[in-house]
Amino acid sequence: MSPRRPRIGVMGGTFDPVHHGHLVAASEAAARLDLDEVVFVPTGRPWLKHHKTVTSSEHRYLMTVIATASNPQFTVSRVDVDRPGVTYTVDTLRELRLERPDADLYFITGADAIEQILTWKDADKLWDMAHFVAVTRPGHHLSTEGLPADGVTMLEVPALAISSSDCRRRAGAGLPVWYLVPDGVVQYIAKHGLYRGLSDE
Ligand code: NAP
Repeated sequence: MSPRRPRIGVMGGTFDPVHHGHLVAASEAAARLDLDEVVFVPTGRPWLKHHKTVTSSEHRYLMTVIATASNPQFTVSRVDVDRPGVTYTVDTLRELRLERPDADLYFITGADAIEQILTWKDADKLWDMAHFVAVTRPGHHLSTEGLPADGVTMLEVPALAISSSDCRRRAGAGLPVWYLVPDGVVQYIAKHGLYRGLSDE
């Protein structure tokens, strides 16, 4: 019998900042889908966010490294941070497949993002490059119209009640973000004065 191909989760997100909801979602996806590893991939320049202020990719990358450091199953990739221009998932998956031709990829991200997948660059190519995992808080209905039935797995994660936008608002208003983000990320945000003076988006 041939050995089972490695199964790698690709956790795509802006991670501005990374929080415990993301970490629980990655851990839950790994357990449910029998993943060997989860690679967090912070976006470089997120698509459709030109009008918004997004924290520099280096800060977001470093916060993700700090947040995932203690889990031997988690790693962080620079593929999106280092690729110039806007981040498209088709390019992310192409690069990761070149790095790991032996593995099956499972692209994990928020259900709100997956709902828009048909508008993504080269959407028709994505289904052959990875299986998609849409993580959401319980009760959220994902509209799967037009998506291949076997291409997307839904995963409810209660910890996703935590959101990056709420963490930013809290940090901006001087409110604590302890226990919403890992301790090292709390300290990183304070050390670099991230989100200071941010009111709303
Ligand atoms: P977003 O629109 O900022 O996020 C949509 C929702 O999903 C938010 O509620 C967000 O919560 C949540 N979310 C995002 N990433 C998540 C993750 N890994 N796990 C759990 N929840 C997550 O989405 P985005 O960050 O810009 O994009 C998500 C991924 O999709 C990225 O890898 C991005 O490159 C890709 N994408 C690709 C295209 C394209 O190829 N054209 C277009 C859009 C997105 P938080 O704010 O709390 O994270």
